[in-house]
Amino acid sequence: MPRRTSAKRYGISTRSVHAGEETDPTSRSVVTPIYQTSTFEFPSTRVLLEVMRRKRRGNVYTRWWNPTNQAAERKIADLEEAEEALLFSSGMGAISSAILSVVSAGDHVVSMRDVYGATFEFMSEFLAKINVNVTFIDANHPEEVKQALRDNTKLVYLETPTNPTLKVTDIQGIKKQLVGRRAKIAVDNTFATPYNQRPLKLGADIVVHSATKYLGGHADITAGVIAGNRNFITEAYETRKLLGGILDPHAAWLLIRGLKTFDLRMRRHNENGMKVAQFLSKHPKVRQVFYPGLPSHPKYKIAKKQMRGFGGMLSFLPRGDGKYASRIIDRLSLIKLAPSLGGVETLACQPWTLSHFYVPKKERMKAGIVDELIRLSIGIEDADDIIADLDQALSG
Ligand code: PLP
Repeated sequence: MPRRTSAKRYGISTRSVHAGEETDPTSRSVVTPIYQTSTFEFPSTRVLLEVMRRKRRGNVYTRWWNPTNQAAERKIADLEEAEEALLFSSGMGAISSAILSVVSAGDHVVSMRDVYGATFEFMSEFLAKINVNVTFIDANHPEEVKQALRDNTKLVYLETPTNPTLKVTDIQGIKKQLVGRRAKIAVDNTFATPYNQRPLKLGADIVVHSATKYLGGHADITAGVIAGNRNFITEAYETRKLLGGILDPHAAWLLIRGLKTFDLRMRRHNENGMKVAQFLSKHPKVRQVFYPGLPSHPKYKIAKKQMRGFGGMLSFLPRGDGKYASRIIDRLSLIKLAPSLGGVETLACQPWTLSHFYVPKKERMKAGIVDELIRLSIGIEDADDIIADLDQALSG
């Protein structure tokens, strides 16, 4: 079976179960062990120096790398069809380290305005402190990328579909605008996951994830991933080593366990997401539904072209104001009011109260994150039960 990125392309379910893992040579354990250690012993100074001089592979110190993490990294690299991947202690750890591995003082970044709230804060506040300029563009108008490019643009940063308004950007279309330029494309693939979308195949250079969400899949870890080619991952590895953002091995093990059922979970998320989107789009108390799998979505054609399924994330506008939206949420009984997404249980929130609470109102409004917007992360429960809960909350 595929232990590393396999020459033979097994199906995604087979790869989710087997890719990246090697039978433990001492115990023959079928499951990758948790190497819960911060440090590793060397048999001699000679071997130690060979490892330090990169003449042989060896484990040194867990802030650098750890065998449990490496198994998870190889599995995710395989799923993303990337040469390599690196784990971080959170999605923001991965996103900030990916960006800091590309830019330095004096460089310029083009980013979609509709990125995750903390990514927006990182771009607009943190990068300004180190003299990196960012131009924000509208995700609905990707042709704005070309106008925003400067000679010193090093990175074009995309998130598709976006959190929380599910905007979709044509990755191949953006790539075409960058012909002859040095700028790299990074894509936050958290919402789509490699089950539904492979940005590297569409022309991106770097993929980032909050693995806290669908990759982990059970709302029990915070984790992040960067995937890309070997050269870039080597740069990002140095950044991780210095900033110290590696994932703890125990959480890496939980990530591996979560990934074993990735295919099964994603099929169900896709199925349930579509059923709930269709239900809401016909509900008299609902004004608009944002789901890339609905033909009413403005970028439905692009979503169909670049995505295999449409995931479990959707948002909608009820017919009423922000207070009405809060009442709907407070009336839910099966569905929980909680931040985060991508777990097996269905969650609901108003993004202005959570993920975008610290984003200035003016910027929120520009991104369409109005007070009445409700975001749903559809879990793997029975679709009828999710729909019944939404129906009673909307109708109450
Ligand atoms: N990217 C997206 C699209 C997200 O939704 C999130 C978190 O919700 C992040 C990145 C940040 O991930 P983390 O919370 O794991 O740092």
